[in-house]
Amino acid sequence: MRVILLGCPGAGKGTQAKVICERYHIPQISTGDMLRAAVNEGSDLGKQVASIMSSGALVPDDIMIQLVQKRITDPDCANGFLLDGFPRTVPQAIALHDAKISIDHIIEIYVDDETVIRRLSGRWVHPGSGRAYHIDFNPPLVPGKDDITGDSLIQRDDDKESTVRHRLKVYYDQTIPLLDYYTHLANSSEEHAPMFSQINGNLPVAQVTKEIFSILG
Ligand code: ADP
Ligand code: ADP
Repeated sequence: MRVILLGCPGAGKGTQAKVICERYHIPQISTGDMLRAAVNEGSDLGKQVASIMSSGALVPDDIMIQLVQKRITDPDCANGFLLDGFPRTVPQAIALHDAKISIDHIIEIYVDDETVIRRLSGRWVHPGSGRAYHIDFNPPLVPGKDDITGDSLIQRDDDKESTVRHRLKVYYDQTIPLLDYYTHLANSSEEHAPMFSQINGNLPVAQVTKEIFSILG
């Protein structure tokens, strides 16, 4: 199964990706996690993208397309994958399509802006795995520690309110046009056209998961 999760920052993509990937035995390809790992390693890619990411802008399409196209040729993607955070622009989606990488399901999780601000200001993440917690909505068992490894949790630099508002603007300007692109593709007569669904991400985590599972079957 090949799945794309779309949604603004804080929509709950990463949270839902973890349960979907566990259930369908597919890898989660989070471009944000990949880029943050590159920044932490101090690789050439990391040096190129660090300041772009901390400003809340998008990394150039050609870098992202290359990164994802390479990742999905890894053996663990043979039975499918879940893309979390890619594509984020119409040119990125066109590149997937032109490379004949067909997708079974595209799911957009939508939430309102004020919910995003509340969620991201309380988000704590485990840097090793990308597992996300929320201080009120989804707290870890031990404050400040990852449930599975016990490692310390961190807050992302780009989760401060002013950067989040900028990321939301970037989302409206550059990613929302993808919704039209995928609506058209899903309604086209193409042989491997994906199914495109939109679900309400303002609901509690378990309810969102239930809706996603009913779509994926
Ligand atoms: P994204 O990957 O889309 O940026 P995350 O999955 O990291 O979003 O979720 C953002 C924050 O909101 C995290 O702190 C997470 O624990 C919390 N969260 C995710 N889904 C929900 C939900 N349905 N209700 C309440 N809080 C949620
Ligand atoms: P979010 O919580 O906003 O969903 P991500 O972890 O997916 O955040 O992304 C963090 C940052 O990484 C983005 O603000 C952007 O700078 C960069 N990024 C991630 N994926 C992409 C992509 N597909 N195209 C361009 N930039 C990306």
